[in-house]
Amino acid sequence: MDSHTVLFGVIGDPIRHSRSPVMLNRAFRETGVNGLYAAFHVKPERLGEAIAGLRAFGFRGLNVTIPHKIEVMAHLDEIHEGARAIGAVNTIVNEDGRLIGYNTDGIGYVRSLKEEAEPELAGKKILVLGAGGASRGILWALNSENPSAVWLANRTWDKARELAESFVETQASRILPIRWEELRDVCAEADIVVNTTSVGMSPNVSETPIDPSWLKPEAVASDLIYNPLTTAFLQQAKERGCRIHGGLGMFIYQGAYAFEYWTGLPAPARAMREEVLSSFTGK
Ligand code: NAP
Repeated sequence: MDSHTVLFGVIGDPIRHSRSPVMLNRAFRETGVNGLYAAFHVKPERLGEAIAGLRAFGFRGLNVTIPHKIEVMAHLDEIHEGARAIGAVNTIVNEDGRLIGYNTDGIGYVRSLKEEAEPELAGKKILVLGAGGASRGILWALNSENPSAVWLANRTWDKARELAESFVETQASRILPIRWEELRDVCAEADIVVNTTSVGMSPNVSETPIDPSWLKPEAVASDLIYNPLTTAFLQQAKERGCRIHGGLGMFIYQGAYAFEYWTGLPAPARAMREEVLSSFTGK
């Protein structure tokens, strides 16, 4: 660090579990960027002050996590079209004092899915399980890839219906809500099945959101969960012959996009993944 070091960070409440600092500091080291990235515990009532501080100290960028992704939008100067459609910001870029909000969660997920499991999403039939906070960005980014169908199922039907309807205003939407009872039949047709529910997350690691034996053996099973790295849903789908895609890639690539927006350089995604993996295993 010296007097030219450029500052970055992540704000959230809680925040001490975040792997973003190890991941982004490794990216700066790897690319020779004189940057420093830290985690800041910001309570909701101090969000406005935190953003004013970002402006005053001239931070180049910030990641934003739970619970600030929606409320932070009111403090920014401009919201990128994708973040506006999703209704949440996870990345801020400071362009000479002008704060611009982006959302890299959904596009990070899709980049990881394409690089790690299925390079071509156009024409595919995709089933998304879950209509919570993470689902919205995923649906927006998947729908932008021209799939032939995106089915959306949620335990609570009204949330699936409302979420699917909300896209009609912002995007030419292929998103169709389906009932949880229809899942078995829809799985028989789906090329990609994405779990965005929290079912299977540690400590409930033996649970699966649906019966993986419903998937076609040639389908891709994808899970947003990365703790554990391979969920029971993915493990059982793999035993059935499916290609599997875990949630770690989404985390890496949402950070990779943020790095690229801030620096204009290609992100060293492999090194970022290595750093996060070793933070899990302690090796
Ligand atoms: P959320 O807003 O709390 O939504 C949870 C979703 O799970 C809802 O759709 C909920 O359905 C469903 N659900 C919960 N328990 C269920 C059950 N027993 N059976 C069926 N459905 C159930 O959570 P979120 O923020 O969207 O996060 C969802 C998951 O994605 C978490 O595991 C999180 O760790 C993961 N995630 C990963 C990344 C990444 O970078 N890889 C990023 C964000 C999130 P109802 O509407 O019926 O309650």
